[in-house]
Amino acid sequence: MVLVTAVAPGSIAEELGIVPGTDLLSVNGRELEDFLDWEFLTAEDAFLVHVRRPDGEEIEYEIERPAEEPLGVALEPPRIRRCGNRCDFCFVDGLPPGLRDTLYIRDDDYRLSFRYGNFATLTNLKPKDIRRIIEYRLSPLYVSVHASDPVVRRWLLRNPEAPDIREQLRDLARHGITFHTQVVLMPGVNDGPILEQTVTDLYAIGDPVLSLSVVPVGLTEFSRHDRVREPTREECRAAIGFLERWSRDALAARGSHWIYGADELYLRAGLPLPPAESYDEFEQVENGVGSVRWLEREIAEGAETLSQWAGLRIGVLTGTSMGRLMPQVLDSVRSISGAELELIVLENTLFGSSVTTAGLLPGRAFVDALRDRGDLDLALLPAEAVNDSDLFLDDLSLDSLSQSVPVPVRLSKTFVDAVLEPARP
Ligand code: SF4
Repeated sequence: MVLVTAVAPGSIAEELGIVPGTDLLSVNGRELEDFLDWEFLTAEDAFLVHVRRPDGEEIEYEIERPAEEPLGVALEPPRIRRCGNRCDFCFVDGLPPGLRDTLYIRDDDYRLSFRYGNFATLTNLKPKDIRRIIEYRLSPLYVSVHASDPVVRRWLLRNPEAPDIREQLRDLARHGITFHTQVVLMPGVNDGPILEQTVTDLYAIGDPVLSLSVVPVGLTEFSRHDRVREPTREECRAAIGFLERWSRDALAARGSHWIYGADELYLRAGLPLPPAESYDEFEQVENGVGSVRWLEREIAEGAETLSQWAGLRIGVLTGTSMGRLMPQVLDSVRSISGAELELIVLENTLFGSSVTTAGLLPGRAFVDALRDRGDLDLALLPAEAVNDSDLFLDDLSLDSLSQSVPVPVRLSKTFVDAVLEPARP
């Protein structure tokens, strides 16, 4: 059963009389568990829907619709599948106390992996889930492998029940499922020979493993530093040397670099980022892999749009990680747009200065930085610092922030997007 939360005006659903609060019970006699059932079972042009209206009346609708026309219902979000692991490096353990409850949920959900590219470990899959992945062709999935050796992986995930990920991937691959995979690199745990084995095993699965990223573990002041540590500069360099050798071989053999280091790995190693072509289609850009090169490409493609900023004085706010890379990006935005740009780098006051990513900056840090900046025409904030409800991690809303500072603000991922969006006054 799935609850309807909204109905689009003029839609098929509204014409039928479906209203918010209606329970969708089944399609063609098959019970609905979540949005996936609804989307896949209603993909045909004609089907039978059984619903229960808010007043308790049950109705069956025979629906025929023109191809591609949406039914026009919004559904309640699915109950998030909880994680059965207890990784020492878990981001949830690194959160300070007192944040909103939803931030402390450890999710490990193959549905969100398919829909939003969230990484999942697949350790909590039940036979029914596997059947759904295959039937609905939930592909590609984003999978946290970390280590292919089952013993190491079980230890690392703190989950003695974790199945052998190599078998899981091979089984799903036989049914046409593909994967983007990642290794979160922890020195002394899954680097060196363990990394070598992991890369070898994943490559051996063949084309279904579309990509592999290597991301250095990130910790906060609240993390379990007695159990896990971040890699040193030399350890990051060793990992890069290793993955770049694999990447060259993969390019020659398969026509894709296949394995990629996160931008943060290069930053910590003190090495320049690889050129844009090293990231192929930027498949893992949302995972911080190739973000800078992707951004440079977006800026170049949006040159005409950016010229609307000529003569403006704009503050660009970011975290200390991007702060080190941003000067070269701003040089090109400056020369393309004719705007005067000021880089404003913020330390993380919520998690501690060791947390450098812009997406984890609290709203309060932006307010403090902009409180006296009436001299700016515009301030750009990292779009990834807010959730879908425009809330920062410390629960400050974007609207409240806008009203607390004397400069219009815009969220931005690519600079170009900020030109096209109206500013918050
Ligand atoms: S799998 Fe992810 S959510 Fe689960 S414990 Fe490990 S890091 Fe945390």
